[in-house]
Formats: sequence, C-alpha cells, structure tokens
Amino acid sequence: MAHRVTFIPGDGVGPELSEATRRVLEGTGVQFDWDVQEAGAEVIDKYGTPLPEQVLNSIRGNGVAIKGPLTTPIGTGFRSVNVALRKELDLYACLRPCKTYQGVRSRYDDIDLVVVRENHEDLYAGIEFEQGTPDAAKVIEFLNGIQEKKIRDDSGISIKPMSITGTRRIAKFAFDYARAYGRKKVTAVTKANIMKHTDGLFYAVAREVAKEYDDIEYDEYLVDNMCMQLVQKPENFDVLLLPNLYGDILSDLGAGLVGGLGVAPGANLGDRVAVFEATHGSAPKYKGQNKVNPMAMMLSGMLMLRHLDEGDAADRLERALAAVIAEGESVTYDMKPSRDDPTAVGTSQVADAVIAKLEERA
Ligand code: NAD
Repeated sequence: MAHRVTFIPGDGVGPELSEATRRVLEGTGVQFDWDVQEAGAEVIDKYGTPLPEQVLNSIRGNGVAIKGPLTTPIGTGFRSVNVALRKELDLYACLRPCKTYQGVRSRYDDIDLVVVRENHEDLYAGIEFEQGTPDAAKVIEFLNGIQEKKIRDDSGISIKPMSITGTRRIAKFAFDYARAYGRKKVTAVTKANIMKHTDGLFYAVAREVAKEYDDIEYDEYLVDNMCMQLVQKPENFDVLLLPNLYGDILSDLGAGLVGGLGVAPGANLGDRVAVFEATHGSAPKYKGQNKVNPMAMMLSGMLMLRHLDEGDAADRLERALAAVIAEGESVTYDMKPSRDDPTAVGTSQVADAVIAKLEERA
C-alpha cells in the first residue's frame, strides 16, 4: 500500500531540492501518495501566513512529512517558521545523524554518530525581556530581591527553563533510538558544572533513564570538552543527547565534520508525528538556479524510509547516494575539490545519477 506522506516543497531552493528528492524516493520502488502542501514566504499573500493551518492539519493527519526549507520572513510575527512548526506539532526531538561517506570533503573518514537534541526548552523557549523595558525592570527587581548576586539595571534577560518532563522524554527518545538502531552508547552533554539547576537536572534525569536501558552504555561530557573530543576523536561517539542550545551548536559541528550542510540530513519527531528535512535553510541566493546539493534532503528521505519501515529501500538509497559521492562526478559544486569546478552538475542531475545507481543495482 502507498504511504500517505505530507510533502512540503518549501521556498527558496526548497522546490528544486524537493523535486529531486521526490524522484529518488520514487526511484526506490516504494509507493507514495503525496499530500502536497504549500508553505513558506511565497504563500503569505495567498494565506496571510507562511504556515497555514491546513499544512499543520495535513501533517497531524498523515503522521509523516518531508519538507524543503522555509524562509522566515522579517515582520511576520514568527521568530522562526520552522521553530513554530516544531512547537505546533510537539516535535520535541531533533535527530541529526552525522556520517562520513567516502569521497565527501571532510578531514575524517570514520564518523557515524547521531545528535539527539531537545527541541522545545532551554534558552530557545523564547522567554526574553528586552533591555530597558518595564517588564525587564520588573524581572530584574524581583531577581535582585530574592538572591544575592545583583543583575545590572541595563541588562536584557533570557530565561532557560528545563523540566524533568521535557528531559525525561528526550532522554527516553535517545535510548529508544539507540536500541532500535543497534547503537551501543548514549552520551549526555551539558555544562552542568556551571548551570547546576538546569543542566544539572538534565544529567540527573538522563542518569535515571539510563538505568532503564542496561543494554546501552551511558556516559557524560561537558560541552566544552565535547567540542574538543569531537574534533580530535569523533569516532569515539555514538548517540549524543543534548539540551536545545548545545544541540543546535553541536549539530552544526557534526555537519562540518562529515562534509558540510550539503550532506547533513535531519528529522524532527514527536510521539505521533515525524517531519524529515535537511539541516540547511532555503539558501535564497541560489533559488531557481538548479545549483545546490540535494543530498541532505535525499538523506533525510532515507531516514524517512527507515521510519516508514522501508529498511530495504532505505539501504538501497543510501548505497546509491554513497556510490554517487564516491565517484565524485555527478555531484554539485560544494562536493568538488574547488567551488568553481566546471564539472559540477546541477540539482536535478544529481537525482538522475542517484536514480541510475538505484536502477543499476535493482
Ligand atoms: P542556509 O542554510 O539557507 O544557507 C547558508 C549557505 O549555506 C548558503 O548560502 C549556501 O552557501 C550553503 N548551502 C545551504 N544549503 C546548501 C545546499 N543544499 N547545497 C549547497 N550549499 C548549501 O542558511 P541561511 O542563509 O542562514 O538561511 C536562509 C533562510 O533559511 C532563513 O530565512 C532561515 O530562517 C531559513 N532556514 C530554514 C531552515 C529550515 O527550513 N529548517 C533551516 C535553517 C534556516
């Protein structure tokens, strides 16, 4: 039976990347019933918002979506359209696998780790008080009244809430993922030596959850040390479990380790809904040029195939992508030795090459 999946082409370079990805997903032979939904900067005139309610309803109904990037237009009331989508659908876990494929532009060749980032809490909660406002003054006065350290009157304030509930479910997600995908170790990463009541809570809850999974190893690193360890010995790590802000930073570090944004896939998951998307944004300056790399979105599609229990198709797609990368011919400019390499191909030609590999191996 065909999988009913919400398909959001997105804006900027999104539509061309989405089209290339749709073609390779169908090239695996898996049947899809695409529920195409418009979102992004280009639909604001039509719907009054970049994130129309029918898009959210479609994802809620289908349970699975794949999306191109969405630009956050200035002045629409959104801090980020993508963050709003994650909040609306309670997609509390961000999954960013970082794996090296032979032939990518990376200094490393043996990385295979997964970043699991909490998506809702921490400094991303969006609770902020602008310097000089009456609300900021009230918050400062209150805080100065209940503790000894004095906050300067001319401060801006951002709040970092982290709960047992939010931490428990992201920690369980990381361990369940490790178990489901045959991973051996979960490493929690924080700055708990300094932020004892938030990051310290994160460690305490993660340790409790770890006790429920005695088949998975558990350890902890402080985030500054982890940055150094990842640069020096990335092969030592398996699943990294992080609060929101460190997760954001280390996902990009991970993408850099394995060849950059062009090959960095991702997924945002909740208990009932999963949305697959590349790590990168809408790269508006390249819009409509058939130029940017579709592999990050194709690899996100590969993750979606696994989520849909199409493991065989996912393996075949991954091998086809790996073969195209290893040959280094039908790849976009960012995967060539120099960015102005005249042999670089366009977005849709990468899809042609991946489909040819899928057919060769059929
Ligand atoms: P970006 O990722 O869109 O682009 C930064 C640069 O990275 C590009 O100029 C390009 O050089 C390179 N790049 C990105 N994707 C590439 C690809 N597939 N192949 C080759 N090179 C690639 O980041 P930005 O410019 O900071 O953001 C542009 C817009 O995208 C913003 O409105 C931002 O809010 C949005 N955004 C959306 C998402 C999402 O939809 N999940 C994620 C990040 C940013």
